[in-house]
Amino acid sequence: MKNGKIGVTTENIFPVIKKFLYSDHEIFLRELISNAVDATQKLKTLSSMGEAKGELGDLAIRVAADKERKTLTVTDRGVGMTAEEVDRYINQIAFSGAEEFMAKYKDQAIIGHFGLGFYSAFMVSDKVEIVTRSWKEGARTVRWSCTGTPEFEMEETDEEHDRGTTITLHLAEDALEYAEDSKIEGLLRKYCRFLPVPIVFGKVKE
Ligand code: ADP
Ligand code: MG
Repeated sequence: MKNGKIGVTTENIFPVIKKFLYSDHEIFLRELISNAVDATQKLKTLSSMGEAKGELGDLAIRVAADKERKTLTVTDRGVGMTAEEVDRYINQIAFSGAEEFMAKYKDQAIIGHFGLGFYSAFMVSDKVEIVTRSWKEGARTVRWSCTGTPEFEMEETDEEHDRGTTITLHLAEDALEYAEDSKIEGLLRKYCRFLPVPIVFGKVKE
């Protein structure tokens, strides 16, 4: 188990994200799906170069809402991340844009021009979890979670996980609409048409 502090200069960016992008917070879904698509496309490239061996299997991206658990999950079967990559791309890099974000917001030009990326999930969530396993041979499953402060928890485990990444959003009380099928279906139609990877929306299996 590893505990750490996300690399961010602003003490706590999350309230800022929530407040400034409040009116536009539904874009979180587009951001998560675009990451899932990127991860899947990277895997296809690695496969065509002969780096990733074997069948890639079903590459559809799955989105599932669970009203009772108040969760929304996005699962891809793309490249996944090693612990080192979660550290580099989630704990460090994702926040390197925080200062730029603040600067741009001051110019009132941010909305629609600045991809907030993975962290936009915190606009609608009290807690975000990542479970991921890299395509690399022998890669272990990595679990990461963060409750919306700059502190995160991360551990490598021996549990089985498909290649790829599952992002689970534990929805905030004021964002429970995103556990509604009709809401998610509408957003998928709005933001997620014409993507190079199929998106499947369905209930979580009990
Ligand atoms: P960007 O997509 O602009 O790089 P994000 O904040 O959306 O910024 O994501 C940061 C990084 O985290 C990505 O570049 C990628 O390396 C990693 N990442 C995020 N989501 C996934 C995913 N589903 N699968 C693999 N890597 C991911
Ligand atoms: Mg992204």
